[in-house]
Amino acid sequence: MVTFEELKKLDSQYVVQSYGRSPIAIDHGQGATLYGVDGKEYIDFASGIGVLSVGTADPEWQAAVAGQAGKLAHISNLYYSEPYIRLAEKLCTRSGMAAAFFGNSGAEGNEGIIKLARKYSWEKYGEGRGTVITLNRSFHGRTITTLAATGQDVFHKYFFPFTEGFRWADPSIDSVRQTAGDDVCAVLVELVQGEGGVLPLDPGFVHDLAKLCADRDWLFLVDEVQTGIGRTGSLFCFQQYGVQPDAASFAKGIAGGLPMGGFLVNEKCRHVFTPGDHASTFGGNPVAAAAANAVLDILDDESISRVKEKGEYLRAAIESMDLPCLGKTRGMGLMIGVEVSEGFSNKELCAKLNQAGLLSLTAGSGLRFLPPLTITKEELDKGLVILKAALS
Ligand SMILES: *Cc1c(COP(=O)(O)O)cnc(C)c1O
Repeated sequence: MVTFEELKKLDSQYVVQSYGRSPIAIDHGQGATLYGVDGKEYIDFASGIGVLSVGTADPEWQAAVAGQAGKLAHISNLYYSEPYIRLAEKLCTRSGMAAAFFGNSGAEGNEGIIKLARKYSWEKYGEGRGTVITLNRSFHGRTITTLAATGQDVFHKYFFPFTEGFRWADPSIDSVRQTAGDDVCAVLVELVQGEGGVLPLDPGFVHDLAKLCADRDWLFLVDEVQTGIGRTGSLFCFQQYGVQPDAASFAKGIAGGLPMGGFLVNEKCRHVFTPGDHASTFGGNPVAAAAANAVLDILDDESISRVKEKGEYLRAAIESMDLPCLGKTRGMGLMIGVEVSEGFSNKELCAKLNQAGLLSLTAGSGLRFLPPLTITKEELDKGLVILKAALS
């Protein structure tokens, strides 16, 4: 058996050192329970950053992936294949959106809806209306364009020149109005800012924003990369806010652990892209699409409705511990942020939790928990016991 130390040494020798990793190497798992290469057990409150929506090695998911891998792994978008078509149908039917585009990642999904907004505007109004307004503390990805879209100064360094055409506003309608000009074609927001610290937007602001976008014919774009696919207690978060975006990106949890991202468009935008405008070699890949179909079947309305209960249970349990290092909890569904008290470091607390056997995340200046949506009560309780012991 390989040891953690051997893996760490090889990683540092052969892998670009762009990540700050925890000193843990995971080998396998089942549900929300994972095992290190040394056999140590971990409870998963991270889901590989919101990706393992139905946990690890779900039997139905496995069967879908293995079955499709043995049948047709790839064919390209020069041909039709059943899995991506079924997936698009499911996503549209359950979200009220009109059509889907498939790519490989969240950043690629966001690039797609930014291109969509610019083409929509170009065709209707011509040149000079290419600016997209995003929010301060947002996170939209790591490509040059999505870094430019991201409203955090720490991401705007080294890689100049960034893509032009982004301005950042505070999450208030006055700030958006002040930031806007006659060069705007769209507003792009996360309804719950994930990396920024699990910050849900005010529903009144979101309604005003949707209305402002409609009045000015700006596309209302929602980044559902982290909030989508059941994470907040509805298939997409916009459904709980009671707004319909013109386009919404998704990724992370969609395929339950395989790389897939993309976006949905409403009726108004379904014909903006025509053949040749946008493409992705792996987009709609049959294995990833089969995985995503299984994820959506597992995450039916009933199991998504339990996401809210689980989230409330977790938040109430954490708050009732009254730990000096932790403050209030916030978020929606199983997208949970926990404030860290002054004098404590969220990174240190997160490292403690990981070492104690609870895989956890940070966001902004707090802790963040994104357990698999299918996590059992027993696994939640095991995780809470570890949390209490590690942080007391
Ligand atoms: C993770 C994330 C992204 C980037 O997704 P990648 O798949 O890493 O490109 C974009 N937006 C939000 C809100 C995210 O949480």
